[in-house]
Amino acid sequence: MREILDLHVHSRFSRATSKDMNIEGMAERAKKKGITILGTGDITHPEWMKEVKKKLVDLKNGLFEFGGVKFILSGEINIVFNLDGKLRKIHVLLTVPSFDLLDVLNAELLHFGDLLSDGRPTIFISGEKLLKLVSSISDKIFVIPAHIWTPWFGLFGSKSGFDRIADCFGDETYKIFALETGLSSDPYLNYLVRDIDRFTVISNSDAHSLENLGREANVMENVSSYEEIFTAIKNKDRKKFLFTIEFFPEEGKYFGDGHRKCGVHFVPECAEKVFCPVCGKPLTYGVFHRVMDLAGWKEEERSDGKIPFIHVIPLKEILSQVFKKGKGTKVIEREYLNVLNELNTEIDALVFKSKRVLFDKINADVAKAIVAMRSGNVVKQAGYDGEYGKLTINMEGEQQVGLFN
Ligand SMILES: [Zn+2]
Ligand SMILES: [Zn+2]
Repeated sequence: MREILDLHVHSRFSRATSKDMNIEGMAERAKKKGITILGTGDITHPEWMKEVKKKLVDLKNGLFEFGGVKFILSGEINIVFNLDGKLRKIHVLLTVPSFDLLDVLNAELLHFGDLLSDGRPTIFISGEKLLKLVSSISDKIFVIPAHIWTPWFGLFGSKSGFDRIADCFGDETYKIFALETGLSSDPYLNYLVRDIDRFTVISNSDAHSLENLGREANVMENVSSYEEIFTAIKNKDRKKFLFTIEFFPEEGKYFGDGHRKCGVHFVPECAEKVFCPVCGKPLTYGVFHRVMDLAGWKEEERSDGKIPFIHVIPLKEILSQVFKKGKGTKVIEREYLNVLNELNTEIDALVFKSKRVLFDKINADVAKAIVAMRSGNVVKQAGYDGEYGKLTINMEGEQQVGLFN
């Protein structure tokens, strides 16, 4: 059986998060999107965990269930520490197989930070110490560096990150096996960096609202427990871990270099300057710049067996372009539901339904746009310094054969 996993989301207890991020809303929207296994988010937050414990049914295999959707206990923390005279702030995702282990973990983390302050709390601990602490509790609690390229809080981020993974986790680095791409990068870009070669690259939504659930995700098959999911990730098992669903990285908020407040950006080229020509302050270097700085090894040196990936554009953005109405309008909501009525879920429409089924069941222009998107016929204006990029599907362009046509 096919599973679509989104392991990194936030509940309404995280800062700047929609109040609709409750279990009922998340389960309902996950079903529309096509997600079958969803992270709970915010596992370190006592109030949220009270609610999660009460509502989810424990399937006793590391997974939980509510309203026909399976859940995994996962949450993000912000680890803050000093290293080599620099203050480091790195976001990592934690996954835990049971409430019993979670209680032990949270009791320990409480010594290093205020868990009630935010669904994504700041924990004053180094990467190395965190891994030591976690593995002293269980070897089934996993730490996955989150959105590793974002300028702030990303492991490789230009503002407070590192040049090498081992610089962050020291002698404990061998315990890390997966890295999260974030919206502004994809596996192709990641594997340009030698240091990432041995890791499995996974993709999650980091959603702060129901709308964004599953905007990036992982597609697996025949994984029926927590253990099987993470074994498949660890082993890059291509029989079980089929592919990841990615944003076009240019659409992400941190792809190019620039200064949002000053309206300055250099995409697609990297900036040659360090300082903003308008305000004189340092520019925010984007993901592409960082990848280019850290890349520089030959394609043929790379090891085989990487998990494949595809790029998608959220369905409402596609509809918005076709019908020339804003994403949040009633027209687009109606057209969105029309597509789901015919094709089941958003991910089915974007990824799995054949070209023939698309043209049989839905509006021909929408079908045409989805097919063009699948073949990468997209004009891109890259995002920078917190500003999302803009994508336009090229409906008139020559259509190549996509992955699932
Ligand atoms: Zn984060
Ligand atoms: Zn500026």
